[in-house]
Amino acid sequence: MDRLKGKVALVTGAGRGIGRAIAEALQAEGAVTVATSRSEPDGSFGSDIDYHRLDVASDEDWATVCATVLDRHGSIDVLVNNAGIIAYEPLHELTVADWNRVVATNQTGVWLGMRTVIPQMLRHGGGSIINLSSIWGSAAVEGAHAYHATKGAVRNMSKNAAITYARNNIRVNSVHPGFIDTPLTEAQDPDVNDFVVSRTPMGRAGRPAEIAAGVVFLASDEASFVTGSELVIDGGYLAQ
Ligand code: NAP
Repeated sequence: MDRLKGKVALVTGAGRGIGRAIAEALQAEGAVTVATSRSEPDGSFGSDIDYHRLDVASDEDWATVCATVLDRHGSIDVLVNNAGIIAYEPLHELTVADWNRVVATNQTGVWLGMRTVIPQMLRHGGGSIINLSSIWGSAAVEGAHAYHATKGAVRNMSKNAAITYARNNIRVNSVHPGFIDTPLTEAQDPDVNDFVVSRTPMGRAGRPAEIAAGVVFLASDEASFVTGSELVIDGGYLAQ
């Protein structure tokens, strides 16, 4: 219950889906939890969760929200870069606008989050950063070229940050979900969903809480020697 007591955690894209489950799990383990999202969340958060509007692609939003959180809570010990969007177009059908839109949220957003939060982690003696990649950060299906590009980038950005700040007690890890039941996947072509689930050795979709459990571990001091790692939570998909 108190695995994160004394820590302040900020989660992006927490309005629904995996991000919401992560925010609720961090709060349940005792973290002072700051949930953020670009648009109105699906339903309000309880009074135990501090909510702020934050578009991860906006440098100004990061500066404003982090200043407010530091003023109110004193530190940000855990950063979960969860916000992400998908575009399904194959490489030759992608427009520059679509490419830029996906990169802005999935890749630039992760960099801006780390760039904003790391200086105060350096001042406070450490922290834990968890970046949401995907099984498509390590393997491929047809199409969704920009999504694959950004999720692969998140995987390696996490490793670079882990090495760069290892001696500063800042741990950086990536999490790689397989197919998870969320509003994102509910909105997808059912044939795509059936295909991915049929290729998942456990034969089912994952639940947001199953991703949140991994994030709680990486955020906690139980993971004190874990940095630069990829936590795959995918029902066995990548083991094939
Ligand atoms: P989701 O249900 O679509 O939720 C994503 C959340 O991110 C929404 O609240 C969305 O809010 C927010 N968001 C999007 N762009 C944003 C931005 N620029 N700034 C701030 N918030 C933004 O997605 P999900 O399935 O929970 O996915 C969460 C993460 O896990 C993503 O990074 C995704 O790539 C990754 N993932 C998911 C799966 C899966 O099967 N579900 C698998 C592998 C990886 P808006 O209303 O503003 O769009």
